[in-house]
Amino acid sequence: MKASYDIIIIGGGIAGIGAAIKAGKEGASVLLVEHYGFLGGMSTAGMVSPFMKYAVNGTPLVRGSFEDIEKAMRAQNGMIDTGFYAWAFRNAAASLTAKYGVDVSYDTDLIEVKKDGEHITYVVLATAHQVVEVQGKIFIDASGDAQMIDLAHCPWLKGDEKTGKTQALTLFFRMGGIDVRKTCQYASEHRKHFLDWMEYDFDYSKILSIAGYKNFIKDAQARGEISKDFEYIFFTTLPKDGEGAFNTTNIRGLDPTNTAEITEAEKEGHQQVHQIVALAQKEIPGFENAYLIDTAVQVGVRETRRAVCEYMITGSDIRKGRKFPDVIARSCYGVDIHGQHGEDSVLEDVPEGDWYDVPLGSILVQKADNLMAIGRCMGSDRAGHSAIRVMPTACATGEAAGALGALAVKQGKTIREVQYKDLAQAISYNVK
Ligand SMILES: Cc1cc2nc3c(=O)[nH]c(=O)nc-3n(C[C@H](O)[C@H](O)[C@H](O)COP(=O)(O)OP(=O)(O)OC[C@H]3O[C@@H](n4cnc5c(N)ncnc54)[C@H](O)[C@@H]3O)c2cc1C
Repeated sequence: MKASYDIIIIGGGIAGIGAAIKAGKEGASVLLVEHYGFLGGMSTAGMVSPFMKYAVNGTPLVRGSFEDIEKAMRAQNGMIDTGFYAWAFRNAAASLTAKYGVDVSYDTDLIEVKKDGEHITYVVLATAHQVVEVQGKIFIDASGDAQMIDLAHCPWLKGDEKTGKTQALTLFFRMGGIDVRKTCQYASEHRKHFLDWMEYDFDYSKILSIAGYKNFIKDAQARGEISKDFEYIFFTTLPKDGEGAFNTTNIRGLDPTNTAEITEAEKEGHQQVHQIVALAQKEIPGFENAYLIDTAVQVGVRETRRAVCEYMITGSDIRKGRKFPDVIARSCYGVDIHGQHGEDSVLEDVPEGDWYDVPLGSILVQKADNLMAIGRCMGSDRAGHSAIRVMPTACATGEAAGALGALAVKQGKTIREVQYKDLAQAISYNVK
């Protein structure tokens, strides 16, 4: 690690990776700081798969680093259609950041931010063995939890506007040995127990989504065998036949920014995994020979803090398919809130053929002149956040921040002084 960098990015999830690759491509010196010993955040430690919808009429809305990651995963046979393995993502991210000259500091946490007025000067980073100060010109918070924004005493919001509740948590797991054709046949024949959005024209060469089995859940809950918080079993298939990624556990009432509560969530998540695996093996057609392969490294966190930025994307922007003159990313994924106790879940589609824009202001953090927020911690209201948090959009916002940071350094300007047309040119493949 050098003593100073053009751009320092905190958090190596898909947003931070997108920012790092783009800034590296544009010739900036980049430090990417990551808590774990590998990159990917929710995409790897959280074991999340597949990528949510990001194409309109067959044309991808997100290219650049996102396309690089996809290509690298396909080349390893670690991705088909939109589904991928965490190992493939980790390898892709490691090789691409190396290719574009990004210095990655693993097993490293941001613990302090030093400022001169509204200008950030240094970050203080800690491993288990050492604490170091590193100087930067531009900083990007890609921590998912707006940790840098918090440490820099910049403003943030958390959760629902009235109650402060954050979305339910989910510990992902993978199973193998599933007879996928049998599960599809069962779903086709018992549609009333499956979710409304299920499609039954199963194409086995693609990633299939199966969500329901509400009858099994209800009965097992009545017998007291599984948590009352389960709503349904949801899994998507993976590249290897018979394997599925399960987005099924439903952990409510716990705040992931509170140490005691996230610990409780991890414990609850593992209990729920074992409850549902046992139920599936015992009762559900197609799971007779299925087995648990693995659980995610950490419980999946959908929502915590969001930076207060110059523009806050709203649920209404998403619902109206709003377009902005200073667009930095485009998305076609709708509002998707996994409800807490006392809340209904919300899942809305963006109308077929339409999309919405993410504007530049939503990554420019208030009260700091050289700090951007991307991915899960960018500026939005709760409903807006629930849409833009998905992996392709998070990566595209990172791409824009990486490009803007590199332009500011090259031009000797602040991130607010760079002309939008220069940024639009640098990320033209995402905003045309
Ligand atoms: C259960 C669940 C299901 C989901 N399903 C889908 C889906 O099907 N499709 C889809 O496209 N999206 C899905 N999402 C959303 C998506 O996975 C995430 O919103 C997205 O991956 C967030 O990316 P990010 O880079 O913003 O943050 P993260 O992936 O959270 O990355 C943040 C990174 O910062 C690191 N970090 C944090 N603090 C520090 C610190 N102080 N110092 C150093 N490093 C730090 C973390 O270790 C992590 O690697 C799902 C999310 C969850 C939780």
